[in-house]
This record gives sequence, structure tokens and C-alpha cells, in this order.
Amino acid sequence: MAESILILGGGIGGVVAANALRSRLSREHRIVVVDREPAFTLAASFLWVMTGDRTPAQVSRPLERLQRKGIEVVRGEVERVVPERREAVVGGRALRGDRLVVTLGAEFALDAIPGLAEAGHTFCTLGGATRLRGALQELRGGRVVILTAAPAYKCPAAPYEAAMLLDGDFRRRGMRGAVELSLYSAEPGPMGVAGPEVSAAVRGMVEQKGIAYHPDHQITRVEGRRIEFKNGTRAEFDLLVYVPPIRPPRALAGSGLVDESGWVRVDRETMATRFPGVYALGDVTMIPLSIGKPLPRAGVFAHDQAEVVAHNVARELGGKGREARFDGHGACFIETGGGRAGYGAGNFYGEPAPAVKVRRPSRLWHAGKVLLEKQILWQWL
Ligand SMILES: Cc1cc2nc3c(=O)[nH]c(=O)nc-3n(C[C@H](O)[C@H](O)[C@H](O)COP(=O)(O)OP(=O)(O)OC[C@H]3O[C@@H](n4cnc5c(N)ncnc54)[C@H](O)[C@@H]3O)c2cc1C
Repeated sequence: MAESILILGGGIGGVVAANALRSRLSREHRIVVVDREPAFTLAASFLWVMTGDRTPAQVSRPLERLQRKGIEVVRGEVERVVPERREAVVGGRALRGDRLVVTLGAEFALDAIPGLAEAGHTFCTLGGATRLRGALQELRGGRVVILTAAPAYKCPAAPYEAAMLLDGDFRRRGMRGAVELSLYSAEPGPMGVAGPEVSAAVRGMVEQKGIAYHPDHQITRVEGRRIEFKNGTRAEFDLLVYVPPIRPPRALAGSGLVDESGWVRVDRETMATRFPGVYALGDVTMIPLSIGKPLPRAGVFAHDQAEVVAHNVARELGGKGREARFDGHGACFIETGGGRAGYGAGNFYGEPAPAVKVRRPSRLWHAGKVLLEKQILWQWL
């Protein structure tokens, strides 16, 4: 019997799930993707927009391109989700699926820290990265501060990559000597979820570049050009770059899909929720690990989880193969500037702790990240 699969969110998870389902299911089955934005944007490339190595157009693709493949695209705001009926209210209209895949990501809480959004720039949105590029071009020197505004945020590597890429950008422009570059993190060290070895390696990469690193600094407010931290210290800046805190999508509040944290609880191997036919994957989920921290919010996980869900849904609709399971493996490139990147990979479901290794920065890993970018943008959209 023909079914319809309703996918909420056209980010990494939604786009991969839609493609993977379309390639496995015959055309009688409908696949519908809903997103408020007209375009898919690749967040991993926003750092290159910040450094002027990419334009916004180079890292975006219209979502309606999916329609050429037989995937329906609905542009609109998901206002409410009713998992019992596998239904979403989009712009006042109820859309229903035989299956529902929730992949709405995490929202940025831009208002969480008083004064931060007004005083600083973020590379975490495409608009923010573009404006930051403009501010960097006007900068002639001074104190540049990068900070994480909460210990948990999207992509644990991003702020550390940002600091090293800014170092590289200033060197390329012959102005590194005129810039004092500092990184303040709310967390006690880089990429803590990957273990002490990876954390120390990434810290070493950052400090080797003359970037002053201050862990365990939770920002409380910004006033004028001064940052105040919870531990009583202060820092002055000429340019402030920040990673915003995140929060669960409001559309899911009170839906029964979320727990007291506001994030969606799933079976960590199948991404099934407690509602039959309803799955959730990517940043919107909260998957506790053995070390007490959640699985990091990263596109690599959203991607692999989407493949698992697509495979299993197609299988239930008459497809072949064994049930697929997400096993917690993941990898990321860590841009270090000057056309180099490190590479971290391992099993985040490892017991008693995630088993992750990091490889030294090289041109090869940077080329790997560029290839991945091209593959995502050309294969999926
Ligand atoms: C600067 C930066 C660099 C990164 N680099 C990497 C990297 O190198 N490697 C890596 O693995 N990960 C990286 N990440 C993390 C990665 O981008 C996310 O983990 C990934 O996008 C999560 O995918 P998702 O599908 O769960 O959510 P998203 O990709 O965020 O997609 C969610 C979608 O839902 C839509 N949406 C949300 N709410 C609504 C609503 N109410 N109505 C309609 N539409 C809605 C949004 O518009 C969005 O398109 C980076 C993130 C940032 C910010």
C-alpha cells in the first residue's frame, strides 16, 4: 500500500533522509519535506564564509531542487507536532503522514546572554558569518575575542576551528602581529566528549598558534566592549565572535515527544520514538552517553541516523536487507588554518567511554573536508 512520509526539517538530517528514502522507495510512496527556509545551507562551510573562502551562494542550495527528484517540498513554519496522529501543523494547516520523521535541529538562543547578540558576531548562521566577514575586513588590529556562550553547542570543534582559521586569515592578510587573539570557553576544555587525549591535542593545536586559551569561563553579560564572566573575571575586546547557546525547537514543546529537557528521547540505535511510526534524528535528539554527556550535535551523526531511518522504513515497506542500526561511530575534520586540518574519529557509544582518536593536521584532511562539502551539496541537492 502506498504510504506518505512526512519529514519535518530540511537540514542535514531531513535532506539525507528524503534522498535515501527516495532512492529506496517506488514513486507511489510520497516523501514530503517541510522547512521554514527556502534554502539548505551547509553550516560546516560557514567558517569558510567567515574567512572569505566561500560566498554565501556557494554554500546554499534551494530546497525546491529536491522536487526534481520526486520529493515534495513545503515551505512553512512547523507550529505544532501531534505524534499520536503523525501530524504537524504548518502555517495553520495540518499535514499528516503515515510515517513522521522529526529533524528540526536545535534553535540558537540568541537572547540568552544580555548584550551578547548586540555586541558580537556569530559564524553559526549564514547571515552571521557574512556580517562577521565584513567586520573582519574592516578590522586593522586589536583584541579579538572568540567565546562559547554555553558548555553545550552545535559542533564541538567549531569554536576551536574558528580561532585557528581566524589566526590563518590574519596571517594571510599580514596583520597577525597587530591582533591579540583569545578564546574563552564555557566548557573545561576542547571537545571533552571525545576524551582527554583528543581534548589535549586540540588545545595544543590552538595554543601553538599563539591564541590565548581560557577554559571554564562562562559569560554572564556584555556591556560596551567588556565581557563579564561568572568566575568574576572580565575581558575587553575590539571584535567579539561567539557561539550561541542552543535550545530545543519550540514547535515540539508539549508534544509528548520531548522529555523534561525539551529534547526528543529516542532509541539510540533505530531513532524510533515511543510513538509508532515516528522517528527523530539529528540535533533535536538527546542521546546520553556512558560518560554522562550527550552525543554531540554534529551533522555526521544526523547524516548516519537519517540513513538508518530511511533504510528501516523502506525495509518495512517491502525493501530488502537486515534492520540497520546507528552504532555511534562518527568523524570530523578540524580545520587548523593555512589549508590544513586534523581529523578525529571513533566510537561515541564506546564503553566505558567514547573511544576517539585524533590525527595530526595535514593538507590531506583539509582536502577531505572540501570533498565532503562538494559531495553533500552535489549529491543531496
Ligand atoms: C558553524 C558550524 C559548523 C559546523 N561544522 C560541522 C562539521 O564540520 N561537521 C559536523 O558533523 N557538524 C558540523 N556542524 C553541526 C551541524 O551543522 C548540525 O549538527 C547539523 O546541521 C544537524 O542536522 P539536523 O538535520 O539535525 O538539523 P539542522 O541541519 O539544523 O536542520 C534543521 C532544519 O529544520 C528547520 N526548522 C527548524 N524549526 C523549524 C520550524 N519550526 N518550522 C520549519 N522549519 C524548521 C531549520 O530551518 C533547518 O533547516 C556545524 C555547525 C555549525 C553551526
